[in-house]
Amino acid sequence: MICSTWHTVAGVRKAFKYCWVLPVSCIGIVLIPFVILSGGAVSFTAGVIEAEGGILPFLLSRFRPHFTIDAMTIGHVIIGQNRESLVLCRDHERIHVRQYERWGLLFLPLYLLSSTAALLRGMDPYRENRFEKEAFRASSAGMTQ
Ligand SMILES: [Zn+2]
Repeated sequence: MICSTWHTVAGVRKAFKYCWVLPVSCIGIVLIPFVILSGGAVSFTAGVIEAEGGILPFLLSRFRPHFTIDAMTIGHVIIGQNRESLVLCRDHERIHVRQYERWGLLFLPLYLLSSTAALLRGMDPYRENRFEKEAFRASSAGMTQ
C-alpha cells in the first residue's frame, strides 16, 4: 500500500514537471517534423526527446557566430548536431532539463538575465551564465539527477 501510494505521488510529480515545462518543450517539438523531413533522427531517451541531424547543424550554427553549438535543451527536447554530440553532451543537457523542471517558463528569461548580467560585467555570457556554470559543474562531477 505504501509502495503503491509512493508510485502514485511520484507519477503525479513527474506529470506536473512535464506540464510545467510543456510550453517551452512545444518550441522544440515544433522542430521535430522538420528534423525528420530533412533526414535527421528522433528518439525518446529516459523521458526526453532527442533530435539530431537534418536541419539541426544549420540551425545550431546560427545562434552564435564563430561558435559551434553541439547540443541545446528546449524543455524536454534536446537537439544536437548528430548522435555523437548528443551522447557527448547528454549529462550537461540533462542538467538543463532539471533546471527547466525547476523554473518552468521562468527559465528562459532567467537564463537571458544571467547572460546579460555577465555581459555587463565584461564576462563571457555563456561560460559565466549561472545555469551553464551549474550544468558544467554538475555534469563534470557525473551528477545527472
Ligand atoms: Zn549548457
